Amino acid sequence: MIEDHQYHSEDDILKYTHTAFNKAKQMKSLVEDLFEYTKMRQTDTPMNISKIDINQMLEQLAASFELEAEDKGIKIAIDADDKPLQIEADAEKLGRVFNNLIANALKYGDGGHNIILRSKPVSEREIQVSVENDGSQIPEASLKQVFERFYRVEGSRSKATGGTGLGLAIAQSIVDRHGGYIYVTSDPKMTRFIIHLPVKNGERIERVQPTTTPEENLEE
Ligand code: ATP
Ligand code: MG
Repeated sequence: MIEDHQYHSEDDILKYTHTAFNKAKQMKSLVEDLFEYTKMRQTDTPMNISKIDINQMLEQLAASFELEAEDKGIKIAIDADDKPLQIEADAEKLGRVFNNLIANALKYGDGGHNIILRSKPVSEREIQVSVENDGSQIPEASLKQVFERFYRVEGSRSKATGGTGLGLAIAQSIVDRHGGYIYVTSDPKMTRFIIHLPVKNGERIERVQPTTTPEENLEE
């Protein structure tokens, strides 16, 4: 409109530039996410592996989301042992996974008041970390699809939040590159994104829980 001189006032110009600016920001984030997704899908993308303490990471994440959560009346709690839970991993990439999961819990946990970051050792060679929130349930039919590229659960709520639907696809790729796996369960009370990771870099954890709810599993 501005290009075609289709404006009558400075207010018009401001309105149109504002729209263009927002669209540009959306495009930027979409391009960045697509780039990240493609990069993580390539097996030759280098990983920056070091020994990290998952519990310390969860503490830092909880602190960084505290204000945003408080504004929404949501409490972020940590359920972990007092001692460090060390694994060999790419701290920045894993951070990105948890960032997305917590951001999702804040965005989509409608009517919820709690987010729980949980961690525990599973065995000498495997750990489990989860991001859990109360509030709205993910419909059963969508559970298998939320990790797909661009998939977003139907509903105005989901659209109003303006994501691209790449967050969980990226998260899954990152977890996979670490030799682990991620899945989700959801009932009216809690939605849980659960991640299993090997303690040692280069090892792969065998999936014991497919991407279905526990109830479905028992029936199989
Ligand atoms: P992006 O992360 O790329 O900004 P997004 O958040 O929509 O966009 P994903 O993180 O991949 O994309 O999530 C996919 C969809 O799964 C979301 O749009 C939402 O509908 C659903 N979802 C994800 N996490 C939750 C949750 N904790 N509770 C309810 N629904 C969820
Ligand atoms: Mg997301």
